[in-house]
Amino acid sequence: MNAPDQHRLADRFLTHTVENQPPLLLPYDAYATDLPLREALAREGGGWAESHVAAYGPLAGGELMQLGFLANENKPKFKPFDRYGNRIDEVEFHPSYHQLMRTAIAHGVPNFAWRHADRAGAHVARAALNYLHTQPEQGNGCPLTMTYACVPTLRHQPELAQQWLPRVLSTDYDSRFIPAWDKRGNTVGMGMTEKQGGSDVRANTTRAYAAGGGLYELVGHKFFLSAPMCDAFLVLAYIDQGLSCFLVPRFTPEGALNAIRIQRLKDKLGDWSNASSEVELAGAQAWKVGAEGRGVATILEMVALTRQDCLIGSAGIMRQALVQALHHARHRKAFGKLLVDQPLMRNVLADLALESEAATALMLRVARAVDATHRDPAEAAFARIATAIGKYWVCKRCAPFVNEAQECLGGIGYVEENNLPRLYRQAPLNSIWEGSGNIQCLDVLRALSREPATRDVLAAELAAARGGHAALDAEAARLQRELALSEDLESRSRWLVERMALALQAAILVRAGNHAVADAFCESRLGGAHGLAFGTLPPQAPMAALIERAFPAA
Ligand SMILES: Cc1cc2nc3c(=O)[nH]c(=O)nc-3n(C[C@H](O)[C@H](O)[C@H](O)COP(=O)(O)OP(=O)(O)OC[C@H]3O[C@@H](n4cnc5c(N)ncnc54)[C@H](O)[C@@H]3O)c2cc1C
Repeated sequence: MNAPDQHRLADRFLTHTVENQPPLLLPYDAYATDLPLREALAREGGGWAESHVAAYGPLAGGELMQLGFLANENKPKFKPFDRYGNRIDEVEFHPSYHQLMRTAIAHGVPNFAWRHADRAGAHVARAALNYLHTQPEQGNGCPLTMTYACVPTLRHQPELAQQWLPRVLSTDYDSRFIPAWDKRGNTVGMGMTEKQGGSDVRANTTRAYAAGGGLYELVGHKFFLSAPMCDAFLVLAYIDQGLSCFLVPRFTPEGALNAIRIQRLKDKLGDWSNASSEVELAGAQAWKVGAEGRGVATILEMVALTRQDCLIGSAGIMRQALVQALHHARHRKAFGKLLVDQPLMRNVLADLALESEAATALMLRVARAVDATHRDPAEAAFARIATAIGKYWVCKRCAPFVNEAQECLGGIGYVEENNLPRLYRQAPLNSIWEGSGNIQCLDVLRALSREPATRDVLAAELAAARGGHAALDAEAARLQRELALSEDLESRSRWLVERMALALQAAILVRAGNHAVADAFCESRLGGAHGLAFGTLPPQAPMAALIERAFPAA
């Protein structure tokens, strides 16, 4: 057969050409393309760190995305024994996981706020970094946030803080499985949850026994202990004076493997790059942190920050899902028109954009309050209550949000080559751990009753936006009336906290000054012009503006 004949034969078997599929989005700049984030960073006092945060944008939308896929395709492996049968209790992670951790730590995801603690807004900038890092990879968030959040708890024991904090706040990630004090940088985990009780930590049965020389030995178990390759864990255990907090290193002070026996890794719905384990503490050596019998109060300072990071993580997941949906809809045609130009799809996309912007705005407002906690009692009270409100609501919105974004892509939104299935599996986790939804709502009630300043700062935050939108004014007045009713508060608390979250988001958006965004939010979320599903904005909502603002067309 001569060459032209061969060509014609090949043509006959050419089944189709690939058309009407979007170009690859990657790499893109996850910071530069996120106007709601950029505005909120400046608004909440993190503007001075913009160049640092901005530098993470191309990484988060570029090489970290590829690493995120690899780290989740190659789950961590539990190695209980070495080849000779010696117990080693190691968990082996894929190199991509380590590379992600290395990059995050080098850029300050867990440490920026503490390394720049002398500048107002450092926690705001760190929140933005964390939000960016969450988009390519979610499993890292667990050890990164625990390492960030352990700082106030460790400071309860100054001599431990002096030894550990320089390594905890290091920008060097050191993955070697050797004693913490021989490493350049450390990560720290947390162990509270036991089989018989997680939310109710007073049900813990782990006991600590004084072993001399300031050391204790812990005997018991933890049903969930994530990131078990951390260098140490803050753990709750009972001593005679009551539940107390301890720092349990992976190696004893003499350098031997500490008696933290990993039983198995959890087979999880998602969060695959991160290992979560069940452990037994068979006389594990530990140092006490904080006052005896004050363990819950001591570790709650850490938990307050990990709860903030659940809010940040969920806002980041929503943002990434939105980006994927917008990119797809801008390039995919159906029935002769781009999806982004179809009126009903525009409604879905604009509604998602609005929800995502409100989540991002609330997350950085909370971060500003966390940042100011030690300078300003009113902001401390705001951080106390708004963290629980925000964790409840934004984490609760995340799973339906990601599902809706998936649907914008149609079938490929359900396929693993895309990051949406992974985001979908991750989405429920932030609402479960660090205190599940009901626990957050009960925490809001506790704050309101035990710390009256929280009620005042919440009212003040809404009052500062008074006149911005009639629906917000009406909601603020209604909340005052509802909160004054003491009957059935527990049973009503999900409804109350939801309304508080929506009112707070509305107030922040009103004060941010973009009328199109604020009005659309107030009318749909507070004014009743919205259904239960996304994509139910009233037709007069400024959909084009919301879509363009969320992620500019290339
Ligand atoms: C992947 C993963 C990793 C984790 N990693 C860690 C870790 O590293 N360290 C750690 O300590 N824990 C970890 N956890 C545990 C997690 O924090 C707990 O699972 C969570 O706090 C809930 O506790 P529980 O599972 O015991 O549920 P329970 O406490 O039994 O709660 C079950 C449900 O009841 C609700 N509930 C409880 N009390 C009340 C009440 N009074 N009124 C109304 N409703 C109520 C809760 O909101 C929840 O919805 C992890 C969990 C997961 C899924």
